[in-house]
Amino acid sequence: MSAGLVPDCLIVGGGVIGLSLAYELLNHGATVEVIDRGPLGREASWAGAGILPPANLATAIDPLDRLRALSHSLHREWAVRLREETGIDNGYRECGGLYLARSSGEAAALHAFAEMLREIKIEIERLLLDDVAKLEPALREIVANQLQAAYALPGEAQLRNPDHLRALKLACERRGATIRADCEATEFECSNGTMAAVRTNVGLLRAGQYCITSGAWTQRLLLRLGMTTGIMPIRGQMVMFKCETPPFRRVLNEGPRYLVPRDDGRVLVGSTEEEVGFDKRTTDEGVGELIALARQLVPALRDVPIENSWAGLRPGSFDGFPYIGRMPGFDNAYAAAGHYRSGLHMSPGTAVVLRQLMLGDEPEIDLTPFRVGRG
Ligand SMILES: Cc1cc2nc3c(=O)[nH]c(=O)nc-3n(C[C@H](O)[C@H](O)[C@H](O)COP(=O)(O)OP(=O)(O)OC[C@H]3O[C@@H](n4cnc5c(N)ncnc54)[C@H](O)[C@@H]3O)c2cc1C
Repeated sequence: MSAGLVPDCLIVGGGVIGLSLAYELLNHGATVEVIDRGPLGREASWAGAGILPPANLATAIDPLDRLRALSHSLHREWAVRLREETGIDNGYRECGGLYLARSSGEAAALHAFAEMLREIKIEIERLLLDDVAKLEPALREIVANQLQAAYALPGEAQLRNPDHLRALKLACERRGATIRADCEATEFECSNGTMAAVRTNVGLLRAGQYCITSGAWTQRLLLRLGMTTGIMPIRGQMVMFKCETPPFRRVLNEGPRYLVPRDDGRVLVGSTEEEVGFDKRTTDEGVGELIALARQLVPALRDVPIENSWAGLRPGSFDGFPYIGRMPGFDNAYAAAGHYRSGLHMSPGTAVVLRQLMLGDEPEIDLTPFRVGRG
């Protein structure tokens, strides 16, 4: 976009939600500017594990399931397109997942989860314990000693968050987007239900339409407009091991915790869920718990060094639904935030339905449950 021109849309927040929306709008002919108060894509979207659990668009009925399923079907396509357009492999891999239970309570929860997936025709296979060790020899020790139940989900996939964000950003730049790091939105100028400008540390920025995609910080910004949401930061800590070669191939899930193998031998272990405000520090307790879990499940990790640990702030929402849609009282301002543990997964679908809404088409998913201004 040429300097000085007012873009069709200004996006406030350059995480995966903001960059995906920018990419989708640009692909449909809109001009776009994205601002971020930091270096772009370095908050929750960078910190996440990139797990994409399976979904089925043919059977999904309620809007949240449809959003997941639409997104799931788009990830494969976006990965190909992003690689063609930028040369960056975003790490999308249909690696499959194993779901494990080591106690009778966990096993009961897992059986119920499997039943629910079968009802919506998502492929899930109960495994004999011996088969678990055949599929993933790294699990031999827990198979022999502790494992009570296991299921395989062949449709589970993963992507590498930093690479995906890099690819999105480059694709947006190549399509002419203006992208500004270190540009913080602080206030809004509005009159008669129209947003006229966003005030930032580099001056007033104007656009035809505006969308707030500021993750866990969205509530702070919307308060400036007198709007409350139920968006709150939920800290998640992560640990990364560096192996010579990947010790297993599938994502290993146990309750809310998981181990994700990357092609280069790195293993991510996550994650905690903590309400500690905007504190992004890791703790000895959180990191220690994740290391212990990883080494119990995969004893081979006992001899492997820890390369890094970090924490990110998920944008949680009070009812578990993201906020996606027009802001009440405005004809040209929108928000998309609050995707909690599934923001990477639900990002392409969110971008598509919001693009449809912003460009005057009927969104293909009913956005009522995601109404901005509830809560
Ligand atoms: C440890 C962890 C593991 C996760 N694992 C997964 C997973 O496996 N699968 C999955 O689907 N999801 C996962 N998630 C969740 C997922 O990462 C989030 O739901 C998603 O990244 C949210 O994206 P976002 O763009 O809304 O927020 P963010 O990535 O936080 O982006 C918001 C951006 O807005 C910017 N911003 C804030 N305020 C302002 C302002 N005033 N002006 C300008 N810019 C501003 C911030 O700097 C930031 O870059 C995980 C999250 C964490 C923390």
